[in-house]
Amino acid sequence: DINNLRPSVEFKNVTFSYNKKDIIIDDFSLDIKEGSTTALVGETGSGKTTLVNLLMRFYEPDKGSILIDGVDIKDISDRDLRTFISMVLQDTWLFKGTIGDNISYGRESLTDAEIKKYAQNAYADDFIMKLNGDYNFKLEEDGEGISEGQKQLITIARALALSPKILILDEATSSIDTKTERSIQKAMEKLVEGRTSIIIAHRLSTIINADQIVVLKDGKIIEKGKHFEL
Ligand code: ATP
Repeated sequence: DINNLRPSVEFKNVTFSYNKKDIIIDDFSLDIKEGSTTALVGETGSGKTTLVNLLMRFYEPDKGSILIDGVDIKDISDRDLRTFISMVLQDTWLFKGTIGDNISYGRESLTDAEIKKYAQNAYADDFIMKLNGDYNFKLEEDGEGISEGQKQLITIARALALSPKILILDEATSSIDTKTERSIQKAMEKLVEGRTSIIIAHRLSTIINADQIVVLKDGKIIEKGKHFEL
């Protein structure tokens, strides 16, 4: 049973190529402890997204294995893996429907009060209450009708509601006004706290707060440690 597994992750000598020719992840090994935050950094094309795709099992390693609490993820069903690991902010996928429905996506039995509580924890309630119809405000496809930063707060509220054991965060790089940016930062800290988290990091604050920073280049680790050590 997946729920008996502890949320620790181990990449063990993982090698991967998309085309069976160019090696993108090269004999990569990494331990991720339960409850810790790992920041993945590295120049564009270094393999950050590919590592996350492998953990989500969108692709299989050519060599090596990825373990959750010692269990190879290839022996875990897709359904179980998707409830255990959630990915946030990769792109803020919002759908045509109310804000409330967008927050409770995946947990349709949530009450209005619960939805509001998660939105408050994600610092999203203030702006939602100013919308016409508040939680019944209808978003268009792709969340059209609210700002980029507000979309991110909604996806954070959704992630808080889903409360995955393992969280993968792809920090957005889009320019967001300072006030919303601060809310996103605080909401992310809440989301990550105490939870095994792997963040494709762009913000300095994320990198400073991480338990381990992994610097990638050409699919290999070139540096690893805490911020003050690097
Ligand atoms: P960025 O910071 O730009 O998002 P990244 O570190 O996440 O970069 P990846 O997206 O993992 O890097 O890409 C690593 C390498 O794999 C790149 O050379 C890229 O061109 C290649 N690549 C990524 N996705 C695919 C794919 N679906 N098919 C073939 N090659 C791919």
